[in-house]
Amino acid sequence: MIDKNDDTKDKTNIDEIEPAEQTDKVILDEDGNEDEYEKVCFLCRRPESKTGPMIDLPNNVHICKDCMQKSFDTMNNSNFDFSNMMNMPNIQMIDLSSLQNQVPQKQRLKKKKKKEKEVQKVFDIRQIPAPHKIKRSLDEHVIGQEKAKKIISVAVYNHYKRIYDLERRAAEGQQDNAGYQVEIEKSNVLMIGPTGCGKTYLVQTLAKLLDVPLAITDATSLTEAGYIGDDIESVVSKLLASADNDVERAEHGIIFIDEIDKIAKKKNSNQRDVSGEAVQQGMLKLLEGSEVEVPVGANSKNAMVPLTTVNTKNILFICGGAFPDLTNIIKERLNKRSSMGFEADLRDKYDNEPNLIEKVAVEDLRNYGMIPEFLGRLPIICTMEALTTEMLVQILKEPKNAILKQYQRLLELDEVKLDFEDGALESIAEMAMKRETGARALRAILEEFMLDIMYEIPKDDSIGQVIITKEYIDHAGGPRILLRGQQMN
Ligand code: ADP
Repeated sequence: MIDKNDDTKDKTNIDEIEPAEQTDKVILDEDGNEDEYEKVCFLCRRPESKTGPMIDLPNNVHICKDCMQKSFDTMNNSNFDFSNMMNMPNIQMIDLSSLQNQVPQKQRLKKKKKKEKEVQKVFDIRQIPAPHKIKRSLDEHVIGQEKAKKIISVAVYNHYKRIYDLERRAAEGQQDNAGYQVEIEKSNVLMIGPTGCGKTYLVQTLAKLLDVPLAITDATSLTEAGYIGDDIESVVSKLLASADNDVERAEHGIIFIDEIDKIAKKKNSNQRDVSGEAVQQGMLKLLEGSEVEVPVGANSKNAMVPLTTVNTKNILFICGGAFPDLTNIIKERLNKRSSMGFEADLRDKYDNEPNLIEKVAVEDLRNYGMIPEFLGRLPIICTMEALTTEMLVQILKEPKNAILKQYQRLLELDEVKLDFEDGALESIAEMAMKRETGARALRAILEEFMLDIMYEIPKDDSIGQVIITKEYIDHAGGPRILLRGQQMN
């Protein structure tokens, strides 16, 4: 037995172990390059950037100094005689070879760039396109929504300009000294528009144009920590995943939280509101900017997943929602105002007003159930219009990646020309309008009609052109098929 008070027994101190040879060892990957991923402590799962140098054991097992010290302390302080373990039935010493590949590839964390690279800006203001250029690029993909595209272009431009300003000041070491300096506020965006009008699509296009990582999540899946569902912070770990576990890149990314209207405060509810107000409360810090400890390569924290810290200060948050019935709240407010004094007006004055949603005020959103602190952190409100039949026709044929162009390309590979009559497109758009899911219905409808065409045409080599007619869409006839040599332009 080990005697606790036995002074003759040496206490092992981790600092006495000579780590230099092991910890400085550069791990090479299969290609012989320096490993760009961080080591993760086998016991506490923290990455190297948090723990400091690690002790390397065989088979890619790494232990941080803290854990190693704790293990030694436990051994030294316990009365257990480890030598007896060998003789006990069913106890075998740990076989290190079974611990190989302890961290799956998707959970590995990229090392921060070396010092000299860190000084380099991730974003250079000269590389961020001016708002009009951002909008011009958005125009190629997103139909209509002129005002929203303008607001978003300016918001994004200002957002990255702000990051540049902060980084430049930090580099010059002048954060605190000059009291007059203006700190530009974070410009998170609240996007309001009916379903299928292009909210998600706009943000996706933007992230692609700017080449920044994007995470899209649904507010309804989020719950306050500790309840069933995703923790609020899981959105940050999604972003980290889309940035290939590169913390620096993730910290300049965009997080889009859809269905934000679904976490409005419930009226007259005495129950604990785990998915509404509490989630809004939980998101406050994230929106404003805080250090979040997130699991790498997984959605939830558990003992087997390494953790890292991401700062949300420079992450652009865009929250989107349809806010049904918001127009009634706006109408009520406007009517109240106009029914007083000399300006007293007809109560139904705003009933037929198109795009009433544009007149939204923070007060209306508060009445809807969004808490003031939450709205305060989304200073930019951007409304989107409902799509009209004409816009749906445009969406079918005009965007760079339009659905029609995709079908035309598919048939072009069979050397068949595909055309649509204008009337056919209008009929498709009208059908989509009836489904009330915005542009989302277009693809589903078109797919129904195109299935037979895509099945039959490749059968017959002599076909040179297919024209989708209005009659075909209206179930009153078939498409026009022209043989090779008869094609029209
Ligand atoms: P939501 O507003 O509900 O987020 P989405 O952005 O997901 O709607 O739109 C669904 C699909 O409809 C998109 O993938 C896109 O192809 C198409 N779409 C919607 N609005 C537009 C638009 N204004 N311009 C071009 N395509 C659009």
